[in-house]
Amino acid sequence: MTSFCLHGVGVSSGIAIGHAHLVSNALLEVVHYPLPAHLIDAEISRFSDAIATVKQDLLKINSSLRKNAPAELAAFIGTHLMMLEDKSLAEIPKDIIRNELCNAEWAIKLQMDDIVDQFEQIEDDYLRERKQDVIQVVERVIKVLLGHPSQLSTERQTSALNEERKLILVAHDISPADAIQFKHHEFAAFITDVGGITSHTAILARSLNIPSIVALQKARDLIRDGELIIVDGSQGVVIVNPDISILTEYKLRQEQWELEQQKLQRIKTTKAVTLDGVAVALFANIEVPEDVVAVSASGATGIGLYRTEFLFMNRREMPDEEEQFQAYKTVAVAMKGLPVIIRTLDLGADKQMNPDTVVTCANPALGLRAIRYCLSEPQIFHTQLRALLRASQFGQIKILIPMLSNLAELRQCKLLLERAKISLRKQNMAFNENTPLGGMIEIPAAAINAEAFAKELDFLSIGTNDLIQYTLAIDRTDDAVAHLYNPIHPSVLKLITMTIKAGEKLGKSVSVCGEMAGDIKLTKLLVGMGLRQLSMHPSHILGVKQQILRSQASQLKDQARKILTQTDIEKIEPLLAKLNSSPHLKLK
Ligand code: PEP
Ligand code: MG
Repeated sequence: MTSFCLHGVGVSSGIAIGHAHLVSNALLEVVHYPLPAHLIDAEISRFSDAIATVKQDLLKINSSLRKNAPAELAAFIGTHLMMLEDKSLAEIPKDIIRNELCNAEWAIKLQMDDIVDQFEQIEDDYLRERKQDVIQVVERVIKVLLGHPSQLSTERQTSALNEERKLILVAHDISPADAIQFKHHEFAAFITDVGGITSHTAILARSLNIPSIVALQKARDLIRDGELIIVDGSQGVVIVNPDISILTEYKLRQEQWELEQQKLQRIKTTKAVTLDGVAVALFANIEVPEDVVAVSASGATGIGLYRTEFLFMNRREMPDEEEQFQAYKTVAVAMKGLPVIIRTLDLGADKQMNPDTVVTCANPALGLRAIRYCLSEPQIFHTQLRALLRASQFGQIKILIPMLSNLAELRQCKLLLERAKISLRKQNMAFNENTPLGGMIEIPAAAINAEAFAKELDFLSIGTNDLIQYTLAIDRTDDAVAHLYNPIHPSVLKLITMTIKAGEKLGKSVSVCGEMAGDIKLTKLLVGMGLRQLSMHPSHILGVKQQILRSQASQLKDQARKILTQTDIEKIEPLLAKLNSSPHLKLK
């Protein structure tokens, strides 16, 4: 087996060694090509062979299912097998190949579109959704035709049951809605062909606390299912089929990395205070209530960003008030009185409820996203606000509004919050009347006007992921421009400074909850700029704390001031390196 290396952008550090588990969106890859008449018989047998292979695969999965595997899984495989026996999938594509003189992938895709159209006419919701089974079966067949064996959902589940084998997820791209489902799987690493450093998929990969690399370009095509691979998330390198010496070297590095992580555990309960006594609150970002387990283990002293939109994903109906209330209450109770900042729904752009949703507007990141969407759907917003308020009596909940760009939006939010309160009072339902309201500063317009927002809000939280995206006009999900995505761009630093100053002037707390907060290369700069609250994925808390424990805040302030006067990234880089290398006390 040939050994080779791929280079991408590391988005989550650490080293993983395991077997490739390919997921692909084969349907997107189907191309149409005409065939001469003399090749048609061969194409038809290629098609029949693919159907036979998929049947065998399914039977294999069926027989390898553990006794305690969920009953639905066997039923699901049974349905897929039945479909493969059906004339509409097994025979009609052959007629299409013959009549249209086209390739097999194209023929079965045409037939699938036709069947899916018929399903869409069905009134019954349940039956209509069975079209997903057709799509999944066809996707399996297409994958075999394209030469990458199928690894769809059933296999994902069965392989996750197989604890002995470490699996590394290899995909062209993964939507945030798909990635959130991987929280329930035991993947050792996560690599994709595309994706930006702060795409929501990358953020989720980080929250899984496993090494991850994006922007590998052709990983999904070059890596075969089951091949042994090494993922070095810190360097952004993937080594496929490593020889024994490389494998031994990386096993050693992996052990060292794990040892360093263990060493960090020693400071878990240490307060995050600089050498000259400046305290910095280190909070955690979460996506689902179960993440509170990782939060408690990390030593975070609060939740600085709960991204509630993940509760709304991978489902057809929005969660109702009761379901939302239970989720928010669970987090508030688990945090035992520590602050819990819950952000209202930030759906839109790359975060769609359903991973299959086709985004039709030209610039979704500039479209009806986050608070814009909520204000256009006041009933959805009302339900969430009521759920948040009801949960507020079970802990220290604060509400955070995403993507504010003007004061009118903020005032509308306040009005709707008041309306939610009135409705609860009418029903004699308890809530914290003084639930603080904060706003995300993640659009340049809001940062420039931060003082006005600070006047009307209780706290500000800087979303650097979007702030950078919108300031530098760089799509955070697009790896083609990922090299231009730079948190230390002087304009970004200026906007952060303006926000910090606005907070200081009006006595309102300002935190950072974007990915910058968890980047240890930026901790000292952010503290030097005056930030005293940072919120990040739980896995980053100890590394950031270590930086703080080694810092002298007064010294950082002077060095940061020098950096902030610069207008050229090339001058900022060496100054930042100097700031990061200032003498510090080593942890024993
Ligand atoms: C941000 O934009 O920095 C942020 C924290 O929000 P999200 O990443 O969810 O857009
Ligand atoms: Mg954002």
